[in-house]
Amino acid sequence: MEEKTIVEKLTADFERIFGTEAEGVFFAPGRVNLIGEHTDYNGGHVFPCALTIGTYAAAKKRSDRIIRFASLNIRGGQITEISLDDPTLALDGSDPGPGRGADDWTNYPKGVIWAFAKSGHKIPCGFDILYYGTIPAGSGLSSSASLEVLTGLVLRELFNLDGVRQVDLAINGQKAENVYVGMNCGIMDQFASAMGKAGHAIFLDTNTLEYKYAPLDLKGMKIVITNSCVKHKLVDSGYNTRREECETALDTLKGVVGGLGSLGELTPEKFDGIADVLSETIAKRAKHAVYENARTIDALKALGQDAVEHFGNLMNESHTSLRDDFEVSCPEIDFLVDMAWKIPGVLGSRITGGGFGGCTVSIVKDEAIATFKETLTKAYKEKFSLTPEFYVIDAGEGAHRIC
Ligand code: ADP
Ligand code: MG
Repeated sequence: MEEKTIVEKLTADFERIFGTEAEGVFFAPGRVNLIGEHTDYNGGHVFPCALTIGTYAAAKKRSDRIIRFASLNIRGGQITEISLDDPTLALDGSDPGPGRGADDWTNYPKGVIWAFAKSGHKIPCGFDILYYGTIPAGSGLSSSASLEVLTGLVLRELFNLDGVRQVDLAINGQKAENVYVGMNCGIMDQFASAMGKAGHAIFLDTNTLEYKYAPLDLKGMKIVITNSCVKHKLVDSGYNTRREECETALDTLKGVVGGLGSLGELTPEKFDGIADVLSETIAKRAKHAVYENARTIDALKALGQDAVEHFGNLMNESHTSLRDDFEVSCPEIDFLVDMAWKIPGVLGSRITGGGFGGCTVSIVKDEAIATFKETLTKAYKEKFSLTPEFYVIDAGEGAHRIC
């Protein structure tokens, strides 16, 4: 659906559902990470770009203290209502307690409202908000981050919250997901959604939040996302376990390297010299984090020199490492990547996102895209009785107001 059509539908549905006209329409994109996976909570670098698919919202302030949430993606836009004074929102500065979980989708926007209040922004009255997302569910392209960043944008715009920078939308979004929802994600997804720039990837140092935009003009090639259409149970628990394993590695290595702040501070050479203090599994996890960070730094250079072939090789190495050392892949994804590697005109292919299903990202020459889609579709169907979905993507703009 074209953006114009989406905006028309969203505003019409807003009126139907809430019985009043929306005062603005907003958008925040999903993201794909080109390389630098599971490095964002290890103080390393990531290299994502924002997509042109994401989440839209129409919203309007109310004169009372009620917030009404609805999403066209959930139960036909059924309304969930909460008062700003509801203790579960914890807007009085009290501790919201342990995460409320991802099973109720309104915990994402509620978490953002909580995070804004926590950082000192007053929400003076309630509002009505209707969401509509165009990111395929379960694809791992970060619909949750786009929902959070978008909610922050809506708060800033509706209530003229001075001093809320674009990067604060990302920071508050992550805080909402970490504390309020209880998913211990890094900053990458929210950062890409808030800070994306059309035609560019973002090279981000997650330790300092320093970043650089890298032009993504792949001449004669495209970035193709392949959705495996599987999502394994481990997505959230596996993610949190990997995080803990990386923390264990860091704690142990601190005993060897004084003042070590994160795994991202280690070069592969330095790491290899001290890795034997770690148990086998923990060493594998830490090795991925350290080497992946080095690959990501290398990838920025490669892109700058138009060395896309080298960039592709780094993506392939990234996959091998995520499969064997970090162990966050799955048979379906490994199969799609293996197949892709065999197709002439594919420069690189790897799992992207949190893992245990979701999508692969590949760089494919224009003339090979049709073969790529046909070959993968046929082989994947035969092996897993599943049909993969393909998105040939453009790097899109970060969160913004549409009208
Ligand atoms: P992703 O990789 O897409 O971020 P997550 O499991 O982290 O996957 O987040 C998906 C969850 O985010 C959904 O289950 C839902 O609760 C919420 N969500 C995302 N987009 C929407 C939307 N448009 N409307 C309502 N909830 C949404
Ligand atoms: Mg998510």
